[in-house]
Amino acid sequence: MNTGTDEQSFPPVRFTCPKCGADVLVRQSQGDRCPGCGFEFKWFLPHECEMADDYHAVLTGEKYLVQLPGGEGWIVAHF
Ligand SMILES: [Zn+2]
Repeated sequence: MNTGTDEQSFPPVRFTCPKCGADVLVRQSQGDRCPGCGFEFKWFLPHECEMADDYHAVLTGEKYLVQLPGGEGWIVAHF
């Protein structure tokens, strides 16, 4: 059940919130929220592309799947 080690080898990622356009810094695999709109971000590493797809697919409501421009993986944003 140790899910924290992979992410810790990556520095925080900065990207633009797909919902409100705010500049967002994500430090952890989940739990970070947008300061502008309150959307929650779940960060998937590059090799977790399929997991990101699956996670995004089962969400209901407004959601976004964003590929990080620096190749750090994927962000699923949802409320
Ligand atoms: Zn936002």
